[in-house]
Amino acid sequence: MTKKFACGDVVDGCEWSVTAKDENELFQKISEHAKNVHEMTDIPDEIVHKVKSKIQEI
Ligand SMILES: [Zn+2]
Repeated sequence: MTKKFACGDVVDGCEWSVTAKDENELFQKISEHAKNVHEMTDIPDEIVHKVKSKIQEI
């Protein structure tokens, strides 16, 4: 099952989205994006929970 996450579900106005084959890979890509684009070097637990609740299976 492919996992999909749209950043706009958590960060207003961001149009980036990502797919990956599992949650680990997805989180790796999300943390890179968060670091490069949103300048979040550490993703707070609160955001991790939000992100997890928005992950879709496609
Ligand atoms: Zn974003």
